[in-house]
Amino acid sequence: MSDLALRSRIVHFLDEPSSDGSNVEYFEDGVLSVKDGKVSVCCDAGKAQREGFDLDRCERLPHHLIVPGFIDTHVHSPQIDVIASYSSQLLDWLENYTFPAEAQYKDEAYAAAAAADFLDYCLAVGTTTSFVFTTSYKQSTEALFQAALDRDMRLVAGKVLMDQNALAELQDTPASGYADSVQLIRDWHGKGRLGYAVTPRFSGTSSIEQLESTGKLLQEYQDVWLQTHMSENLLEISWLKSIYPDAKDYLDTYQRYGLVTDRSIFAHCIHLSDSEVARLADEGGRVAFCPTSNLFLGSGLMPIQQLRSAGIPITIATDVGGGISLSMLATLAEAYKVCQMQGYSLHPYEAFYMATLGNARAVHLDQYVGNFEQGKEADFIVLDPAATPIIKRRLDQSNNLAEELFVHMIMGDDRSVERTYCHGVERYNKQEQNNK
Ligand SMILES: [Zn+2]
Repeated sequence: MSDLALRSRIVHFLDEPSSDGSNVEYFEDGVLSVKDGKVSVCCDAGKAQREGFDLDRCERLPHHLIVPGFIDTHVHSPQIDVIASYSSQLLDWLENYTFPAEAQYKDEAYAAAAAADFLDYCLAVGTTTSFVFTTSYKQSTEALFQAALDRDMRLVAGKVLMDQNALAELQDTPASGYADSVQLIRDWHGKGRLGYAVTPRFSGTSSIEQLESTGKLLQEYQDVWLQTHMSENLLEISWLKSIYPDAKDYLDTYQRYGLVTDRSIFAHCIHLSDSEVARLADEGGRVAFCPTSNLFLGSGLMPIQQLRSAGIPITIATDVGGGISLSMLATLAEAYKVCQMQGYSLHPYEAFYMATLGNARAVHLDQYVGNFEQGKEADFIVLDPAATPIIKRRLDQSNNLAEELFVHMIMGDDRSVERTYCHGVERYNKQEQNNK
């Protein structure tokens, strides 16, 4: 692994920030140096020099801003083929677009090429860690893990478990879903920077037998994650009541099979009852807030303040392809608007914290990634202050760091990312891409 050193403007978070800037560490003239893929120095350039660091080693990027790589806690790799599909709401969209797209991933060559494209798109928007739903085909998960290993990315993924209410060719069985998951965990969990998430799509597409076998997997492999969906759409919720008439509510369809732990990530959680919120908090479940998806599919506004005040850790995610962009910057912009509609103004420090250290903590990856503490894996991005003429013009007028970050999150997208580094290695460079 090559070592490198950059001298630039750098920001990261030491803990949950407040709007006055506490726990925000910012260096106007900073050094970020990497040794063996890990952060070895992150401090003010003057301090580094006083401690014997040779500043001549550094590449200089005085106007750019280095931030930790973004972490996307909920995304579907095969859905890059169905972003921006015109439809009514969730259930029609799944049937008309998502399931047919996922059926293509039965073909190994197709799955391998698409997995490589998906990860390259992630890198191009500055996302260095993702929690990914593949398809119900085991080979599509293997293809994604291999592509992530090739790029040395930190990635958690799982084969979708789905044995009812979906295209017949996409359905597994409780036995085959269990066996495939076990094999994938044995082959990939803990290999390189990879991890496994047991991945029932949602309780509408899994039978009781499959939910039971999912709970068994979590019992047998306690360091894997669980990822699924919950309480996204009102029609979905009333449909689930008809499938699970004995369940107390949506959460109960997971809770009664042991699927709610502090390693479980539930996307959406828009329409939870007070009882569900309290029980989800008690069990330690995590929520993935997916604002572009919730707006695009007309699902609703996630009540961020209600969930947070109950003590539920909230992560932020793209949910492509219900979500309309892999860019976490674009996602933060929509999060801001969803919060505004509920009388809450999401501060840029809070937003960037969520997309980096906050997400890492909520999913138990903060010992590896999320900020530039010495020894952490060097996943970071270089933001371009002149991504577009109007962004440059607006940034020229900004007076402080919070204002600058706010401009990046409201106006920024893939064009804002100049470079992306994974484990200390440059994996994306906008200039080189433009010259191709
Ligand atoms: Zn999703």
